[in-house]
Amino acid sequence: MKFALIEGKRTEATKGAKGSCPSCGSELIARCGELKVNHWAHKSIRKCDSWWEKETEWHRSWKAHYPNDWQEIVMSDEITGEKHIADVRTIHNLVIEFQHSHIKTQERISREKFYKNLIWIVDGTRLQRDYPRFLRSFESFRQVQEGVFIVDFPDEVFPKSWLKSTVPVVFDFHGFSANGHDEIKNTLWCLLPQQQKTQAVVIGLKRSAFVKITHNHEKLFITKNKPEQQQPLTSLTSSRNIQRRGPLIDYIEKRQSSNQHRTRKGKRK
Ligand SMILES: [Zn+2]
Repeated sequence: MKFALIEGKRTEATKGAKGSCPSCGSELIARCGELKVNHWAHKSIRKCDSWWEKETEWHRSWKAHYPNDWQEIVMSDEITGEKHIADVRTIHNLVIEFQHSHIKTQERISREKFYKNLIWIVDGTRLQRDYPRFLRSFESFRQVQEGVFIVDFPDEVFPKSWLKSTVPVVFDFHGFSANGHDEIKNTLWCLLPQQQKTQAVVIGLKRSAFVKITHNHEKLFITKNKPEQQQPLTSLTSSRNIQRRGPLIDYIEKRQSSNQHRTRKGKRK
């Protein structure tokens, strides 16, 4: 963890320091070495939050986009008392979880249920195959509006574990230290909750736009009555405002109904 409580104050780890866990209250000791990022570890119990994963520079660089007091927020279920530490919870009650390791389906579902208003940011650099696979499929993406794409057979584009997510999943293929000249890699690719097995809506957005929206809004997208009518907020894909919200919905709906006949590998019947 990045923060422990020392005399009630959230404090970052420094060599030799001791503190207490903001979630379970047990003793934490500072771990400050060269191999891992400075962090706090539980002295006796291995994990107080079974969902917590060891943090990398990637986690920390993402968290740094948000104020300290939005990071590592202890959230509990009022009925069951279950507690977890959200990586980021904004003042608009949007939870952002940064996921580097593999996640089991059951855990993904539990976390989506627990946090409800959640966005996943997935480290797309962990597995070497993920970005080349995305890139190969990219030319068959059908753009319906600036930065908004219809993707056929998303199971051939994204890791399986994220396909059935009920919340937006943002893939970060740039990672912590990649070079900065690959536009596709530098873009965050957001997979919207899928309505159809064979088709998905994917939105490309700049990191700065993502950070700005999540600072200022409770959702990445405006949701109408039906979940498939999600639409991006203005200034989503670039700093320029996108005001064509209506046409986006119409277009996606038309495409989804008229493209039922599309077959795998882009062949048409
Ligand atoms: Zn704890």
